[in-house]
Amino acid sequence: MGLSRALAAAGTAERPRLRDGALVGSRCAACGARSWPARAICSRCGSDSVESAPLPREGTLLSYTSVWVARGRFETPYVLGQVDFGECAVVFGHVRGLPENADVPRRVRVVAADADGPLAFWFEPTA
Ligand SMILES: [Zn+2]
Repeated sequence: MGLSRALAAAGTAERPRLRDGALVGSRCAACGARSWPARAICSRCGSDSVESAPLPREGTLLSYTSVWVARGRFETPYVLGQVDFGECAVVFGHVRGLPENADVPRRVRVVAADADGPLAFWFEPTA
């Protein structure tokens, strides 16, 4: 496996994370694994044949928890959860609009923020 392509790629912090309301990660051409944020090397097979690719706009909320201790930027309580977008991509982020004691797994969608706020995106239930 050659690493020159990966070494020449833009760093993770320099890659766009959102485009047209979708999370932008990467997809491995060799094994199909997705990742978010984007990677230069596939975390599943080690290939450097990794391209920028949007994640699906909907995923499955696997687990969540309520946060009651403020970190300064967010009013408490708020909810954080893990969302599975398939092919290895699991994203940890804020969840809004979840009913109290909601059962999981459940479908959620990505919501991109319109204005400059503390969050660039969050997840909401689809129905
Ligand atoms: Zn791979």
